[in-house]
Amino acid sequence: MDMHPDLEQVLFSRERIAARVAELGRQISDDYRNGNLLLVGVLKGAVVFLADLMRAITIPHRFDFIRASSYGKGTTSSGYVMLSGQIEHHLADYDVLIVEGIVDTGRTIEALTREFTRSGARSLEVCSFLMKKRARAVPVVCRYLGYEVPDRFVVGYGLDYDERYRHLDCVGILRREVYEL
Ligand code: 5GP
Ligand code: MG
Repeated sequence: MDMHPDLEQVLFSRERIAARVAELGRQISDDYRNGNLLLVGVLKGAVVFLADLMRAITIPHRFDFIRASSYGKGTTSSGYVMLSGQIEHHLADYDVLIVEGIVDTGRTIEALTREFTRSGARSLEVCSFLMKKRARAVPVVCRYLGYEVPDRFVVGYGLDYDERYRHLDCVGILRREVYEL
């Protein structure tokens, strides 16, 4: 299939993504077989990953969402993370697994960890589909990780630039010309 013209390079094809998500699903199903698993997807970037991941998990589980934003329209983090939306579950009853699309500075995960710890989650781990290979402002322990990516702006598989490209079934590096005027 032809690459989207705004992409410089495809990093992960639909097939590679599916294979990795299946592995993560198996691992999570095994690790949480005696737990009470609640996936908390980070809106909006993690929606596509969460939808695939939950169907790769073979044990009973629930899911919920929280909204986090730090990038606004740009391609670099503002450093300030805003959380919004209401978790419907009583976190003290659950083994919470944060499901994120991509970890960059680590600040989003830091804010979520603080929030869910305060809410009394029974246990708390992170599953991110992607993680940038770079020095993080805040260290993040990702128990489940799909792939590492270079320190470039990537889109697709739920990840956007200005709300575009979320629907792409691959993950690719966005051409600089698209956001550098
Ligand atoms: P952090 O708080 O770790 O710096 O960044 C996490 C959030 O920044 C992600 O949830 C995502 O919304 C956004 N982000 C970071 N890097 C990228 C990227 O390369 N592409 C896209 N589309 N979003 C990114
Ligand atoms: Mg975004």
